[in-house]
Amino acid sequence: MVKNCSGIGQFRRGTFDKILLGPGPSTVESRVLRALSEPTMGYLDSDFLAIMDETKNLLKYVFQTENDLAIAVSGTGSAGMETACVNMIEPGDKVIVCVHGYFGQRLAQVAERCGADVVTISSPWGRPVDPEDVRKAIKAAPGAKALGIVHAETSTGVLQPLGDIAKIAHDAGLFMIVDAVTSLGGVEVPVEKFSLDVVYSGSQKCLGAPPGLAPLTANGRAMEAIKKRKVPVQSWYFDLTLLARYWGDERLYHHTAPANMIYALNESLRIVAEEGIEKRWERHLKNAKALAAGLEAMGLKLLVDEPYRLPSLITVRVPEGIDEAALRKQLMSVYGIEVGSGLGELKGKILRIGLMGSSSNSRNIILLLAALGSILRSMGFAADLTASLDAARSA
Ligand SMILES: *Cc1c(COP(=O)(O)O)cnc(C)c1O
Repeated sequence: MVKNCSGIGQFRRGTFDKILLGPGPSTVESRVLRALSEPTMGYLDSDFLAIMDETKNLLKYVFQTENDLAIAVSGTGSAGMETACVNMIEPGDKVIVCVHGYFGQRLAQVAERCGADVVTISSPWGRPVDPEDVRKAIKAAPGAKALGIVHAETSTGVLQPLGDIAKIAHDAGLFMIVDAVTSLGGVEVPVEKFSLDVVYSGSQKCLGAPPGLAPLTANGRAMEAIKKRKVPVQSWYFDLTLLARYWGDERLYHHTAPANMIYALNESLRIVAEEGIEKRWERHLKNAKALAAGLEAMGLKLLVDEPYRLPSLITVRVPEGIDEAALRKQLMSVYGIEVGSGLGELKGKILRIGLMGSSSNSRNIILLLAALGSILRSMGFAADLTASLDAARSA
């Protein structure tokens, strides 16, 4: 008998399920969990291939793209980042990476590990990158091949405007590699509008599936460049030309598809399509505004200025003298609510509140504001609970 092996069931809370309002994963609907538990099929079973084809079409819908290549890479959002970088970058390529938070830093690190000569453009955490800085950096780095940028910076809660930067980069002949991990399914990702070349995401943020798949799309221009590489893609597992042969008509075996995860993603994408992608963006925006109004009315300060606030993740400053870790611990132990802590230079200074996918609803906003306000009061901060709930409700 193996000791101390009570299993996942011991943490099930029944009517008091954990409420996921962190930086992802978000709530996984029971429909999606049921799809996950359907019988596993072989990776070349025609029934499974039909589900893959459906999933591809649903991915094209959420990415709002006509690109031929729209797939789910096996692995979490970071696998999408690796795939984008390892395919687009050859050793010695000059690559510009915009860094306005933790995930921009990671993108720069991944690009560097692909052998790129990386030039970074920074902006203070909580602020977007300035297109003028991009223009200057491109001028100072002639021959650069690609520009990497995070659309929704989950570490700071900034939604980075992409239009001007994409135009500057494309005019100079650079490819755009875009991290849409926390925007896809919650905020418009302008793949076609700004001709974004390679865009990747994650299943567990605004799409509402469990973690484990990275939706990714690449346009014809990017795929041409990959075919013309001088050296083969260093990663066999993430080689897009090989993955495209399995996801495309050829159906050439590459690696065993994580069938049940594909079922779950398929079901979560069907939920997105049933709601309608535009309606989903509106819901995320409306709920983010309600939460922001409630937090401000409580007496708290938001990290990000209004036009750049990310609807799927709201960052709020922890008041002076309040122990951020203890606050989060009580939210979980007393109310079963998960929120995120600050990363990097924002550690201990902010809370990161995710309103992603099914987690973005008015019940969660009111519960969180009430719980947060009451804990803050017990810690000595005079949170105005009545004003907070009123402001959220009227927003
Ligand atoms: C979560 C996240 C990632 C990493 O995704 P994982 O699923 O944790 O691997 C990358 N970029 C951004 C912007 C993210 O929010």
